Amino acid sequence: MSYLRLALIGASLTASPLHAEWISGEEAIMGTAIRVELWQDDAAPDAANPGRDAIAAVMNEMRRIDRLMSPFIPDSELSRINRDAAAQAIAIDRELFDLIQTSLKFSKLTNGAFDITFSSVGYLYDYRAGVMPADTQIAQALPNIDYRHIALDSARGEIRFLRSGVRIDLGGIAKGYAVDRGIEILRARGVREALVSAGGDSRLLGNRHGRPWMIGIRDPRAPGREGKPVAMLPLQDAAISTSGDYERFFERDGVRHHHIINPRTGRAADTVRSVTIIGADATTTDALSTGVFVLGVDAGMALVRSLKNIDAVIVDRAGKLFFSPGLAAPRETSNKHLQPKS
Ligand code: AMP
Ligand code: MG
Repeated sequence: MSYLRLALIGASLTASPLHAEWISGEEAIMGTAIRVELWQDDAAPDAANPGRDAIAAVMNEMRRIDRLMSPFIPDSELSRINRDAAAQAIAIDRELFDLIQTSLKFSKLTNGAFDITFSSVGYLYDYRAGVMPADTQIAQALPNIDYRHIALDSARGEIRFLRSGVRIDLGGIAKGYAVDRGIEILRARGVREALVSAGGDSRLLGNRHGRPWMIGIRDPRAPGREGKPVAMLPLQDAAISTSGDYERFFERDGVRHHHIINPRTGRAADTVRSVTIIGADATTTDALSTGVFVLGVDAGMALVRSLKNIDAVIVDRAGKLFFSPGLAAPRETSNKHLQPKS
């Protein structure tokens, strides 16, 4: 992705006096790389540096969301839910309540493939340490995976788990949500052209000076920045998320144990290598990329076809590429987020 390299060079040249230019920032937050690129207009008043301030505000928002939603921070609101919500209904932060409610909507839409209670088994895996649960542990905890074990009381703002042993984790949707929040912050500050990304979840505000943003889809078996992308997509005012079996995994006896769990088995979903979803907002594309990954090519593409303004690129376990109908002929696409390359 050559534009990334250009932007990096641009960042290192950033200096006063201010002039119109692309600026960027990158930080490690939420266990991933957060990247912001934006076009800063000419002539900021006095000594202000609105572009840099905007990037810092997005980074702060990412840290705030992480403190609220991380399952790894013992005193996060999410950790409190996992500790207490099986014993009794508990009142929780409204923003977190709303994202859990949105998660349940995607569980219904994907017929349970996207399910934040995957963590009831998922927490037993440690991909970095190469640890996985024994068959008996999986069998024992598997009945705790079911989004219908989560009861939400909207009027009271309360959550309750209807069964002990249930755990939730927003890892499949929180980064997309954070990216959407980042874009909102930039827009409120008057930024008109920007990219915000958190690992595999990105959203684009506007375009790049009349040309679309060109976003590459990584080769799942050569996923580094150097690897040749399997596809390049011209996008504007769009969100794009990729879920891949290469992000967090270890291999044992020839089996790749990775971080996307099939809620029906408690084991890594194994029919595809990556799923990319294109849509309007990153909360949606994030949840759907994870859900469609679990569904696989046939059921996943059937779901994508049934949704308006959603497209997908899937790389199956043999490395074969599948494009949704809206992408097959980009010049005639019905997806308003996809731009014909000029
Ligand atoms: P993504 O890269 O967006 O697909 O997110 C992967 C993350 O989603 C994992 O690291 C888990 O935190 C979470 N996750 C794994 N399996 C599921 C699932 N079936 N439904 C919802 N979230 C999941
Ligand atoms: Mg996701």
